[in-house]
Amino acid sequence: DWCDIEDLIGTTIRRFGKKNTDHIIEVDVSPDLPLIQADFVLLEQVLLNLLDNAKKYSPTDSVITIAAKQEADSIVMSVQDQGAGIPNDELVRVFDKFFRVRQDRQIPGTGLGLSICKGIVEAHRGRIWAENRPDGGTDLYISLPTCKYAPIMEAEDEAK
Ligand code: ATP
Ligand code: MG
Repeated sequence: DWCDIEDLIGTTIRRFGKKNTDHIIEVDVSPDLPLIQADFVLLEQVLLNLLDNAKKYSPTDSVITIAAKQEADSIVMSVQDQGAGIPNDELVRVFDKFFRVRQDRQIPGTGLGLSICKGIVEAHRGRIWAENRPDGGTDLYISLPTCKYAPIMEAEDEAK
């Protein structure tokens, strides 16, 4: 199916917002992103998992930023938080089934969220990875390939 990233992010945030009142959500989506061939509901699941982590592993009232932009042949989405980050030598292992960072074991969770995200993203021929920002906090990135002949959604006022 053709999936509109702006719609995907909007829908995800509305759903997430219903159970979230303790973080500030900022959205930064580039205009005119091409549609991508992807399953809307599965990608929504991925973003909800990343937002759930950002909320769980960062302080109340801090900012969570969800962004999307185009790069060469892909769309890169990110969820950034202002939490304590992930130990550098565990940035890859957090995507393993049942893996949890030691210091987070008092926080409820099964360690499955990110491994499910990875499975879904890779099924779309995409990549998912985590980075710590030098100023603190974690960035979770997803890159999904764009299609050479993807239709572009036209803004309504341009269509006149
Ligand atoms: P659940 O299955 O409910 O998602 P979980 O959140 O523990 O449980 P994952 O989402 O797979 O499992 O995350 C794995 C581990 O990675 C977490 O336990 C946490 O230690 C670490 N982690 C994930 N996201 C973040 C983040 N945004 N900031 C800091 N640590 C994180
Ligand atoms: Mg999780």
